[in-house]
Amino acid sequence: MFQQHLLTEGFYEKVVSNANDSILITEADQIDTPGPRIVYAKQAFYEMTGYNEEEVLGKTPRMLQGAKTDRKELDKIRRRLEDNRSVKAELINYKKDGTEFHVEFIIAPIANEEGMVSHFLSIQRDVTEKSIVQKQMEDKELFSRTLLESSSDCLKVLDLDGGIRYINQNGVCILEAEDRSFFEGRKWESLWEEEELALVSNAVQQGLRGETVHFRAPANTSKSNLKWWDVMVTPVLDYNNKVVNILASSRDITSSVMATKKIEDSEKMLRQVADLMPGKVGIIADNKMPVFMNGAWVDYFGMTLEEVQAYGWTNFIHPEDLKQFMLLYQQAMEKETGLELECRILDRNKKYHWHIVKGVAIKNNGSQLNHWIYSSTEIQKIKDEDQRKTEFIKMVCHELKTPVTSIKGYTQMLLSIISGKWSVPLEKAAFENPLVRIDIQTNRLIQLINEMLDLSRLDENKLKLYPELFRIDELVKETLEDLQYINHRFTINLFCECQLSVYADKNRIQQVLINLINNAVKYSPGKNLVDISINLAGDNSHVVIAIKDDGIGIREEDQKKIFDRFYRAEGDSEKRFAGFGIGLFISKQIIEMHKGRIEVQSEENKGSVFSIYLPFHS
Ligand code: ADP
Repeated sequence: MFQQHLLTEGFYEKVVSNANDSILITEADQIDTPGPRIVYAKQAFYEMTGYNEEEVLGKTPRMLQGAKTDRKELDKIRRRLEDNRSVKAELINYKKDGTEFHVEFIIAPIANEEGMVSHFLSIQRDVTEKSIVQKQMEDKELFSRTLLESSSDCLKVLDLDGGIRYINQNGVCILEAEDRSFFEGRKWESLWEEEELALVSNAVQQGLRGETVHFRAPANTSKSNLKWWDVMVTPVLDYNNKVVNILASSRDITSSVMATKKIEDSEKMLRQVADLMPGKVGIIADNKMPVFMNGAWVDYFGMTLEEVQAYGWTNFIHPEDLKQFMLLYQQAMEKETGLELECRILDRNKKYHWHIVKGVAIKNNGSQLNHWIYSSTEIQKIKDEDQRKTEFIKMVCHELKTPVTSIKGYTQMLLSIISGKWSVPLEKAAFENPLVRIDIQTNRLIQLINEMLDLSRLDENKLKLYPELFRIDELVKETLEDLQYINHRFTINLFCECQLSVYADKNRIQQVLINLINNAVKYSPGKNLVDISINLAGDNSHVVIAIKDDGIGIREEDQKKIFDRFYRAEGDSEKRFAGFGIGLFISKQIIEMHKGRIEVQSEENKGSVFSIYLPFHS
């Protein structure tokens, strides 16, 4: 009868016949136990539940409920129906075979002609599939959220305008904010300082274009503490590969940046210290490439580090020393020990200088060798001094040998004469020449020994002066006469028209005069003229004795050095002329002890003028 009644109603007929959904009509009484009786079910209901008409009609929808059916939801439905109100709900129901399914339904009360609710119409839809998909999505969402929340980095999801849609809890912490509300309605860019804005907005723009961007920049936390961030900006795409959000992941790298900065600062300081050092210090990597050279090296090579790298540092080592250098280097590499050797190294003027090179291996984390620190000290002066000393000793031996051999020869000759071996009459003439020779040679020996003694006295500051007032022009004259007596070959002219006195050690001044005049004669082979002049200098404060020869002269570079001890001008003169290289050194010291000075003017192959300046005593 109810079916009949319904079918006469146009609206319900339409609903019932057109709806693809399952439809159920129950009576409106017995909402509680045993539940409303089903009076009509549409075919779709049977298909959905697996029950047939006989099993359904006259029963209550409770037959579909089971363990997972939400009781609270049922209560809600019941309350609404008792109030004759329609209700929408979703429940887990069970089919005839026991399988559960999700059903979404609307229940509407139906009134009879008297206006009393007599039935409930329920339209149902199996939403199992939709529920599963939704559940999966919820799971996925939860998973993603858990991932974001568990990250120790600061993760932010931005919308397409750069607004912060989400920030994880760790992000809130490392940005030192009270809670998430601090970020609500804010744009990501607002968290950065002015200087970084271009970088940040560029990263966002690239993210919007679907690119991943990485950058490092400083930014303050909400409490204005400056931190350094390592940021990765990644686009979030939908299933159409369209950018829907941007993920900004920021890692706090403040401590590592600060540590690196500390290392950089201390490295910079060490470099500055190394640059200030006068010694040469460099670092070579284990691939034999120089990686650092201090200022002293750059100055010495006249090249920058890059230029030395391109040129090859081994090219600076003298070819004769390179083999030994590489051998020791190799051995030191294998044994990981230090290395020390002497070698010649080329300077910016393409001249080699002796150096003592010391190398120390530096190990990575104290275990793996990766660098060598080299320090080099120039020892050219020491080498030169050594060389000069060796030459000096050779020369002293040679110089001693000549007079001693000569004295010995004349002594033997005299003995032979006395013993009558030679048929020479025992007259004065037979003895005179050998005795004069012996005297000359003995004087040479005495001079030599005196020079040696003076040298050691000067070394020990023990050379004493015994000054007196005397006429220097007279001393020069006397000295000339003595020297002319020994050496007749030379004409020594004296130009002096005045009488000049000095307060000085007469013997020492004569020693200087003899040395300079002898040099003038010695270094003027083939010539026979020496000019000596005595004058008062400019303001009459000094007497100047100038000794001029037209001998071999002295090269400009040697002129300063000839006053150094053991220095002898290089070249032929050293071999051609006997000498020790100490005469001028002693002369200069003696004159300076008198508060005077010695100067030289000379031109190679033209001659020299040595001038002695002594304080004038009027
Ligand atoms: P020595 O003559 O014994 O070598 P000195 O100290 O007197 O030592 O002189 C040093 C050097 O100065 C000499 O070796 C020589 O090269 C140079 N020299 C000195 N006097 C002259 C001179 N008048 N002319 C040229 N060279 C000179």
